[in-house]
Amino acid sequence: MIRALNQDLHEMLSISPLPMYINGTWTHGSSGTVTEIIDPANSEVLCAVSAADESDVDIAANAAYVAFKSGRWSGLRPDERARAMFRWADLVDRDSEFLSEMETLQTGKPIRESRGDIARGLDGIRFYAGLARNIRGETIDVSTRHHSYVTREPIGVIASIVPWNVPFVLTLSKAAPALAGGNSVIVKPSQTTPLTALHLARLWEEAGLPASVFNVITGAGRIVGEALCMHPRVSGVTFTGSTETGLRLSKLTSSQNKRIMLELGGKSPNLVLADADLDRAIPGAASAIFYGQGQICAAGSRLIVDQSIYDHVVEGVVAAARGMVIGDPLDPATEFGTLTSQAHRAEVLGWVDRAVADGATVATGGRVAHVPGLPNGAFMEPTVLVDVNESDPIAREEVFGPVLVVQRAANVDDAIRIANDSQFGLSAAVWTRNAGVARRVARELESGVVWINDYGQFNPAMPFGGVKLSGSAHREWSHLAIDAFLEHKSIWEWNE
Ligand code: NAD
Repeated sequence: MIRALNQDLHEMLSISPLPMYINGTWTHGSSGTVTEIIDPANSEVLCAVSAADESDVDIAANAAYVAFKSGRWSGLRPDERARAMFRWADLVDRDSEFLSEMETLQTGKPIRESRGDIARGLDGIRFYAGLARNIRGETIDVSTRHHSYVTREPIGVIASIVPWNVPFVLTLSKAAPALAGGNSVIVKPSQTTPLTALHLARLWEEAGLPASVFNVITGAGRIVGEALCMHPRVSGVTFTGSTETGLRLSKLTSSQNKRIMLELGGKSPNLVLADADLDRAIPGAASAIFYGQGQICAAGSRLIVDQSIYDHVVEGVVAAARGMVIGDPLDPATEFGTLTSQAHRAEVLGWVDRAVADGATVATGGRVAHVPGLPNGAFMEPTVLVDVNESDPIAREEVFGPVLVVQRAANVDDAIRIANDSQFGLSAAVWTRNAGVARRVARELESGVVWINDYGQFNPAMPFGGVKLSGSAHREWSHLAIDAFLEHKSIWEWNE
């Protein structure tokens, strides 16, 4: 049973299998296979999507390259490219409720979160549409006999590999800056959540934008994703996903010296110092981990609390976890939806069992949650673990689920030490009333992003990305992301 509320969405999902968009056409590809898309709220099939194989990758990459060389997008004046992207954005705006519902059906996240995600992706298109007109070169005086200058030019074809947790936003965090820079883009969504990326392709076509410049190819990561990244016509790869896959792609693409941007896993520390405003810090800590059912790379999964307030903070986050409204993701009242699948929930529950075997105590949660009317949904209780050893896997590895580990710190320096004792470095937060201490902690945290007295704020104008095993030197979002998709060319002109 498809639970879509929107009639148009019902009609769309009744087309089976849904085709992919490559070379300016809607095609089922040549493999003859499909992937079933499951609604995690009832574990039933929503629809089927055609799965590509290597020969479809070849068609998409060659077509995107030909489009790039033709100049039909790369050769547009920046104001024309900006206007085209604004047109695309207006259609996304028109369909934002449709897209929100679609995102919720394929991910299981609450509709209130999907609405936020669609708005964020839309803002991202508009941000980069504006930036398209601000790509600047520079002149550099090296001698009186030369006019020497640097131009910034698009790279060519960009492969964009997207995970399942925030599909719409992460499709656009890659596609929007790459397109604004004049590149051609091939998006490879996660096999389990391709629907909103496919709708972006429909809107691209409806906006009358050039064929083969924006493509969406669906299929398995190991087959389609890898073939795409390794295709000779693809010059740049932008990947968000697990550290394991990212490092594999980094190794593979280095043999061809391709540009690769990686956004990987995290185990983000959230530091609550002795003088923190707990009326803000406690709900902030709960939403840091439980937003998106904890399936967020930047989830604040390690809560590091000064020993003087530890018991009070634990009590507060446990109460917040117990108070969350778990329910049908399509219900606007729902605060906490489903995990991405029953299989993933089993893995997350396995992490809790292992932590308990290692000596942790479950302060709340740690079990399957039951939602009336949706007995087969992948629901799980928001979980808080205490008495965790710093060296235990639960305190060090990414769980990618709603499991908070609370750790005790002796003082500020101890909190920083615990926070930095990690292979990851994506995001972090510190809660304190002392601005000087906050800035020192922010400086000392080994992290790509730090929030002070806040958590999880994003804006397309602010860079996002990690250090250590959380990502490569490139940043997503902001003016920096557009640079990741541009070459700098030095031109020397002899003056007679
Ligand atoms: P994943 O690595 O399994 O898959 C990510 C994408 O890569 C999917 O589209 C998948 O099909 C594709 N893929 C898989 N194997 C591939 C291969 N060999 N070659 C090319 N592509 C391949 O990750 P996931 O389970 O979809 O997502 C969860 C992970 O993503 C978590 O580790 C999370 O931390 C990370 N993530 C990071 C960020 C960030 O910004 N740092 C944001 C969201 C998610």
